[in-house]
Amino acid sequence: MMSTNKGHTPARDFIRQIVKADVESGRYDGRVVTRFPPEPNGYLHVGHVKAISLNFGIAEEFGGRYHLRFDDTNPESEDEEYVLSMQEDIRWLGFDWGEHLYFASDYFGQLYDFAEVLVKKGLAYVDSQSGVEIRESRGTVTEPGVDSPYRMRSTEENLDLFRRMRACEFEDGAHVLRGKIDMASPNMLMRDPVLYRIRHAHHYRQGDEWCIYPLYDFAHCLEDAIEGVTHSLCSIEFTNNREIYDWVLESVGFEEPRPHQYEFARLEIQNAVLSKRSILPLVEAGAVSGWDDPRLSTLRGFRRRGVPPEALRNFVGMVGIARTESTIDVAKLDFAIRDVLNDSAPRVMAVLDPLKIVLSNYVEGPGEVLEAPYYPHDVPLQGSRGVPFSRELYIERADFAENPPKGFRRLVPGGEVRLRYAYVIRCEEVVKDAEGKIVELRCSYDAETRGGGTPDGRKVKGTVQWVPAQHALDAEVRLYERLFLDGASQAEQDEPVDLLARVNPKSITVIEGAKIEPSVADDPDDTRYQFERTGYFWRDPVDGSVERLVFNRIVPLKDSWGRKTAKSAPASPESVSSSTVIPVDAEIPTRSGGVKGPIRERPAVSEQRAAARTADPSLATRFERYSTELGLSTEHADLLSASHATGDFFEAALEAHAEPSEVAAWMVTDLRGLRGDRGLAGLPFGGEALGALAALVAGGRVSRRAAKDVLARMVEQGGDPSDLVAEMGLEQVDDHEALQSVISQVLEAWPDKVDDYRAGKKNLIGLFVGEVMKATHGAADPKAVRGLLTTSLEE
Ligand code: ATP
Ligand code: MG
Repeated sequence: MMSTNKGHTPARDFIRQIVKADVESGRYDGRVVTRFPPEPNGYLHVGHVKAISLNFGIAEEFGGRYHLRFDDTNPESEDEEYVLSMQEDIRWLGFDWGEHLYFASDYFGQLYDFAEVLVKKGLAYVDSQSGVEIRESRGTVTEPGVDSPYRMRSTEENLDLFRRMRACEFEDGAHVLRGKIDMASPNMLMRDPVLYRIRHAHHYRQGDEWCIYPLYDFAHCLEDAIEGVTHSLCSIEFTNNREIYDWVLESVGFEEPRPHQYEFARLEIQNAVLSKRSILPLVEAGAVSGWDDPRLSTLRGFRRRGVPPEALRNFVGMVGIARTESTIDVAKLDFAIRDVLNDSAPRVMAVLDPLKIVLSNYVEGPGEVLEAPYYPHDVPLQGSRGVPFSRELYIERADFAENPPKGFRRLVPGGEVRLRYAYVIRCEEVVKDAEGKIVELRCSYDAETRGGGTPDGRKVKGTVQWVPAQHALDAEVRLYERLFLDGASQAEQDEPVDLLARVNPKSITVIEGAKIEPSVADDPDDTRYQFERTGYFWRDPVDGSVERLVFNRIVPLKDSWGRKTAKSAPASPESVSSSTVIPVDAEIPTRSGGVKGPIRERPAVSEQRAAARTADPSLATRFERYSTELGLSTEHADLLSASHATGDFFEAALEAHAEPSEVAAWMVTDLRGLRGDRGLAGLPFGGEALGALAALVAGGRVSRRAAKDVLARMVEQGGDPSDLVAEMGLEQVDDHEALQSVISQVLEAWPDKVDDYRAGKKNLIGLFVGEVMKATHGAADPKAVRGLLTTSLEE
């Protein structure tokens, strides 16, 4: 039976805990109002995605509202261009602030009045020292500051001077307005902070209306208060500003419940720069092609590279919210991108470094058209296209080796290889030019092997992608690497000049003359593809055209960065036939535990897996069976046949639920994210239990979303999935009757709030919606909930 779970649902992070407690205690009458307050002085970056998702996400979850507010109090660096681009980028991310768009500069009049309030209360004074004098008299961390000689000016004199500042009677720097707090405060920001300064500058929205401008510490808290913000969430660099945030609001006269500031750790990513001020010099110096350079961590850059917005949202969700800073390995971001693309990108064939193949025994002329599926079996999409097959083809140069290294599984002189979706071919002759460079391979094809099978059961080692020579499309392909050679995160942000020296000269590789299968010519421009075995790609929206195909690599198929840094080799573009590398020490890479941290020292695990299979033929048999008989993707088959323990677990799960691709997805995607660095053997349940859970989802008893919570519980303490679903109250909620019963329970649990609501506090609806959503673990539709709640409450 459903339970309301009041007080038992743990909030996801410490900020949500605070908001939840405030909602429950009725601190703001159940209201939750948050805001995202960028300064329009550059373009948004992925750090902002964290702030936006947190602010907007909390408001949505607690039935509140969120504001987009441009914090445009600094005339010198701000611009309409940035205002527009930021809005566009936030929309692209998938958030809509509706009518709640605000500009701090619209409050200049009110802010000025608040400043007069402080002056009249004797809490602010006009200081006529120079900027240098003010700085020098502020003291140091170990020594107190010295009072300004103007600190004791009378209220009348202060008011007169401040009004004349407003009336533009003075030059820049002649006076400032300062808070009268404490020149000996241990918090340097509290030593009579400057609140207003004179700037004869043109403001992009206010024009020449103002020649005094408020400083952040004075303005920000008041903007929050004007808008009725409840929880003012910002990144950790503002911790010391909290004291002045509170001082200004209290001094001006805002009483509880007033806004409060809470800080969370900034997002920092290895080898990336996440601050507008630090990105700007790179753009200005031409180190990148613009704010939308695909190597930048700006939203423009990601968008141009082809990164889907949901991947960025998922990424910041994976990172989570904490108080302490930690630098995230960029491999985690790549993982989040692949995770989305893996389930949506059609697979097509492309050859980046073409080597010509002539099939001597194949007919001359047009050849045939082979049907090739767009998606592997474990992707929930279907579709296929025809690929023309003919006598002349291209394969990847790296898929042939005249003198193969040990373990080489592709084409060698006299050897066979399978052409994806086509035939098995044998290399009969290697043709070279005068310099000894291989220019062509003469091969024969086996007509009996159409589709790739070998009727006589002979083993063919590898499968390679190809494109038909005559029909191939020519394309330019751009591969991207990390923009910086080494650490370029927060610590270095104050020295933008140094960043220029750290730019990785190989961060972009342009390949001319790649060959792509002809089907892509018919697709929409924004199709994101997987070029088989090479990576995810899409057409560059800026430089590409119908005449000229230009593809950006969004992300390689597997991480190659860990391997390179492990060998401490300089960053170099990886070879096009990248071998797979998965950061892991256990059988399957973990989503959260494994991608972070020690990944850079780890060896190429998939190479280890390949080696393990060579050494242990029973693993090789499993791999073959999983990829052919069970129809798993090569990636999944590879991961699940990594060891006997993994294979046994998988097969035990299949006993309980005979849907290989579903079970594989549970194991590879969900379980690995939850179990951290723990091996399968360390889990308090076995494969059967995982299979049983998958069966409950397939049978409609529990939503896949809610089943993840069950799995999380199982990882912690074991247990029978069916019992857990019942115990945790996760039975799928799909009809109004079930929902109505949850609603009744929620209303019963909050009698006081129900009375308040009926007495007119309509904004409590947010609290009720939030509680119902929590009780159903998000399994209900919030719109329906709101509707039913309103009806119930009117009764
Ligand atoms: P600047 O370099 O101009 O300070 P910024 O990149 O820090 O730019 P702001 O306009 O100062 O961006 O920040 C807007 C909001 O986004 C703030 O609330 C800030 O706390 C948040 N924010 C900025 N950078 C990050 C980040 N890396 N991680 C999380 N939040 C961030
Ligand atoms: Mg900032």
